[in-house]
Amino acid sequence: MFDLEAIDRAAEKLTTSEGGFRAQEQQPPGLTSAMDPVPDHGEEHWVGRDRLSGLRALITGGDSGIGRAVAIAFAREGCDVALSYLPEEQADAEDTASWVERAGRRCVLLPGDLTEESTARQVVDDAAAKLGGLDIMVNNAGFQWARRESGLADLTSQELDQVFTTNLYALFWMTQQALPHLSSGSSIINVSSIQAYDPSTALIDYAATKAAINNFTVNLASELGPKGIRVNAVAPGPIWTPLQPATKPGESMPSFGSDTPLGRAGQPSELAGAFVFLASPLEASYVSGTVIGVTGGKPVF
Ligand code: NAD
Ligand code: MG
Repeated sequence: MFDLEAIDRAAEKLTTSEGGFRAQEQQPPGLTSAMDPVPDHGEEHWVGRDRLSGLRALITGGDSGIGRAVAIAFAREGCDVALSYLPEEQADAEDTASWVERAGRRCVLLPGDLTEESTARQVVDDAAAKLGGLDIMVNNAGFQWARRESGLADLTSQELDQVFTTNLYALFWMTQQALPHLSSGSSIINVSSIQAYDPSTALIDYAATKAAINNFTVNLASELGPKGIRVNAVAPGPIWTPLQPATKPGESMPSFGSDTPLGRAGQPSELAGAFVFLASPLEASYVSGTVIGVTGGKPVF
């Protein structure tokens, strides 16, 4: 069951990686297969230990990047999953589903644009109906745009709408819709960012949504605590996912992540541990209203 050699190989590859991706660009939302190199989602090395046995999770943006790593780890921990994603990401979603199914768990695919309120709400209801209930809600879908000439002056209302609707409105709608399905022992995990603490001028709108997600997380933890529902967030640093080449200038990829204390970008698989921990009703039973940074050493307090 434990492929120790695969785990050793993965650990060696991650800790000795120096980043330095080649310049590359994609159109949003970006696809995994077009990335060079293809990110590591834990396919070869995540070892499940039944920490989420019998649970059911909805992961937004679960087709690729961090969401895919979370889906694979959750499945190997014994959890059935539903993935929400944009229709043009079907190929990525099917790849993720194949890993979930190989782990012996169910995978429900729910394409749809979450910037439409009715779609966002329907995705939650469909996930709960098809999984037979819902225990874990992972609000991971997100969007940014960092190909502007200057900062605030170039920000259009259309861009502002897309970033705020994807990152905040959809998160509010979907969490609201999930509430009737959740019960004591359930948990909500939101995806924040290092941008909430150390904002880049090129991401002024995105960074503001991530700061708001932190605030939402602690406030909702307070509301739902009496019901035994925990609410937390994970704040990633620079992680090698389709979002990066799809939303930033291609020539910024070679130095992506090099400004962290660990000197490199992270891989999606390096986030999975934080999500599994927060989702585990046993291991994180007293953890609520907090944000775990997985940032390569950049401070989140
Ligand atoms: P990713 O591109 O793999 O995932 C983002 C996903 O969001 C997409 O796969 C897509 O399915 C979903 N999405 C975007 N707009 C949508 C819409 N309108 N409707 C439905 N789905 C939509 O990239 P990722 O980096 O894994 O992103 C996951 C989360 O991590 C995001 O919230 C992002 O802000 C956050 N994050 C990423 C980094 C990083 O460096 N990659 C750093 C900090 C935070
Ligand atoms: Mg994707």
